[in-house]
Amino acid sequence: MQGSSSRPSPTLRVCSHCGAPYRWERSSADLRLTFCSWSCERHSLGTTLEALLGAWSHVPAGWRYLLSA
Ligand SMILES: [Zn+2]
Repeated sequence: MQGSSSRPSPTLRVCSHCGAPYRWERSSADLRLTFCSWSCERHSLGTTLEALLGAWSHVPAGWRYLLSA
């Protein structure tokens, strides 16, 4: 019985934020299968959230009135 230890681990993932390979079981992120750690998750999602909030702040005042009506 040999060779079973040389197979690639199915738990190895690549972080979508920093691109580093990691074991999802050890990830501290909520989205373990996507990010290697909570800091990568937070950074990536935070950037997205800031972009959304930034886009909202650029909505003309007239549009906000229509959207909130
Ligand atoms: Zn990462």
